[in-house]
Amino acid sequence: MKPGRRIELRGTVQGVGFRPWVYRLARANGIGGRVRNHCSGVTIEAFALEEALDTFVERLRDSAPEAAHILELRSSSIPFESVDDFVIEPSEDLGQRAFSIPPDLALCPDCESELLDPKDRRYRYPFINCTSCGPRYTIATDIPYDRAATTMADFVMCPSCQAEYDQVLDRRFHAQPNACPSCGPTVELLTLEETGPSRTGDPIADAASRLTEGLIVAVKGLGGFHLACDATDSAAVTRLRERKHRDEKPFAVMVRDLRAARELARLSGEEESLLSSAARPIVLVRRQPEAGIADVVAPNSELIGLFLAYSPLHLLLLDELKKPLVMTSANLASEPICASNDEAEARLKGIADALLVHDRDIASRCDDSVARVIAGAPMVLRRSRGYVPRPIKLARAVEQPILSCGAQLKNSFCLVDGDLAYFGPHIGELDSLQTLRFFEEAVEHMQKILGIRPELLAYDLHPAYLSSQYALAQSGPSHIGVQHHHAHIVSVMAEHALEGPVIGLAYDGTGHGLDGTSWGGELLLAEHGHFTRLATFRSLSLPGGNAAMREVWRTALSLVDDAFDGQAPLDSLPLFRGLDQSDVRVVQQMLERGLNAPRARGVGRYFDAMAAIALNRPRASYEGQLAVAWNRVADPREVGAYPFDLDRAVEPIEIDLRPLVRAAVQDLLTGLPPGRVSARFHRTLVDASASLVRLIAEQVGKLPVVLSGGVFQNAWLAEGLLAALSDSFELFLPREVPPGDGGLALGQAIVANQCAKEGQRCA
Ligand code: ZN
Ligand code: ZN
Ligand code: FE
Repeated sequence: MKPGRRIELRGTVQGVGFRPWVYRLARANGIGGRVRNHCSGVTIEAFALEEALDTFVERLRDSAPEAAHILELRSSSIPFESVDDFVIEPSEDLGQRAFSIPPDLALCPDCESELLDPKDRRYRYPFINCTSCGPRYTIATDIPYDRAATTMADFVMCPSCQAEYDQVLDRRFHAQPNACPSCGPTVELLTLEETGPSRTGDPIADAASRLTEGLIVAVKGLGGFHLACDATDSAAVTRLRERKHRDEKPFAVMVRDLRAARELARLSGEEESLLSSAARPIVLVRRQPEAGIADVVAPNSELIGLFLAYSPLHLLLLDELKKPLVMTSANLASEPICASNDEAEARLKGIADALLVHDRDIASRCDDSVARVIAGAPMVLRRSRGYVPRPIKLARAVEQPILSCGAQLKNSFCLVDGDLAYFGPHIGELDSLQTLRFFEEAVEHMQKILGIRPELLAYDLHPAYLSSQYALAQSGPSHIGVQHHHAHIVSVMAEHALEGPVIGLAYDGTGHGLDGTSWGGELLLAEHGHFTRLATFRSLSLPGGNAAMREVWRTALSLVDDAFDGQAPLDSLPLFRGLDQSDVRVVQQMLERGLNAPRARGVGRYFDAMAAIALNRPRASYEGQLAVAWNRVADPREVGAYPFDLDRAVEPIEIDLRPLVRAAVQDLLTGLPPGRVSARFHRTLVDASASLVRLIAEQVGKLPVVLSGGVFQNAWLAEGLLAALSDSFELFLPREVPPGDGGLALGQAIVANQCAKEGQRCA
């Protein structure tokens, strides 16, 4: 007898052209049956010979449309029915249950060829889209995800668009943002002051000609506005830096396509597929030395953030311009990205010379995502546009819906319900009323579109974090505080379905420790519900506390003072010679007396301090700037390393880097180039961490090793530890979840869930 199969799929399988794809696949394999949407996914009933069914299921698993994301595929036998045809059945009433709204999707190849085809009715129409591409999360206003619940609701489809929308086998069947020049949104160039009125009647060509002249144009994208300027024009980029009050932080560069990207950077195959994935993140890649990009785009950096045009508007603009564009989020520090036209007009005055706007509203702000390839696979460094709100599937369901509120820097929150974890968009520095409001709006909106009402709130133990204060101010749900580095490790455990115990290395700049001091170089024996801190880095005084984050020379002074026991050769080091000597004496006194010099253990501080000394850079203009600079100068040909100590007499065990500091200073004094000192520094950190892991494993066994914390965005450390340890340990890196504080919220939720379940406090 012939068999039947019921196949149930969960994940992002709606709103992405999934059913027409299933239909074509079934037809191609001679399968009879049906497919339908329902509240939690897609169900297929298929009838054919065993072999054909096997192939069909295999194809379903392996060849789904790029925008789709299958989290679970279950197949079971059902009685055979004799049906010849394969049909798409009308959807069940989806009611108020949320089904997953897909992330925003980059322009697909089919739409791109229509966009550039003079005979197509959407020729050069900047809002072309289909079920495989276009905005999703950023236009959704409510559930169920339907045109009426998007910012396209007010655009009434013309008969041609409506026909596409209604036709099951059309590429635009139920494509919610479907539109064309006669019924959809339009683009407009608003010019400010001196730049004068439109010249050609084509706003995109006008915008391009202004960019060519070196002007700054704000461009409305999917999740907010960008500020754009010609990336090959130093004067324009410098002006953008001045107007945005941004000294040295690298700008991302958008190019038309992979071919243009290859001209600017040396790309691996993995980097090319990450760049051209439907999420289109900014990808950190190695720049070509003679790339023609202005140096001020990413000063003193081997790496550059590149991304490909992802909306049709970007593509048309880059086609006109024929040059790479700096594209940076349109906001000043401490403000969320601009999303509405009014907001842009008000806030970007004096920054942009012209605004390329349109009348399709953005319902949710969503910054660009950032990723890079580490150890041959993608690591998401900032999870936002293109990823949000696609869930991460957990091995085990949580006991109750949870909202975890993240940290202070690079804030991002997470909503967890059942076995699915949804990260919210990148909020950024949660340090002002405006960003707090953005956080609250985004939490509210995500709860609404996902239909999740949290009963438990998880937050960081740092009492000054606005995210923690927000959590504690909510009445109703219960609250659980989670230690920062524990959350870092559990985020990665959750991503890789590890129950623990694991040996977790959490390296970052700072995080609130259980003893109230700043931690940041921690080795934890970790499970979901608790952890033991087995090792840490020798603490370093930060004279002036937080001031030392930017006045990095203070940390540097503290570092050499400790390493040389008060006898550091300050007079021989240009960094200290160049400073006001009375400032140096004040800090020396702080160190001697231990006044206003809190002790901290962040690995990031060692990077900062060494960079300040070796590169003679006393100050940073943003957190982590010098640490990144120190990484970027490292000379890959260098094979040496420095000594270090592991102090086993204290508990927890301490990594003592004073021997490293002494040897590095000696090297600098004898004129070894900073790039080689940096490479030796990196190799020493790898050696020290690997030795520590082996030592700890003698006590606790060869457990899986988890790496987390912002320091592991550094490919040298992550790849170095993989090479050093993977012969005897299983190592896990963050991949889908950012290693830095942007990934903290997942761990917070899982820890809080376990603590609530065991009826214990986490800290
Ligand atoms: Zn498309
Ligand atoms: Zn139309
Ligand atoms: Fe952290």
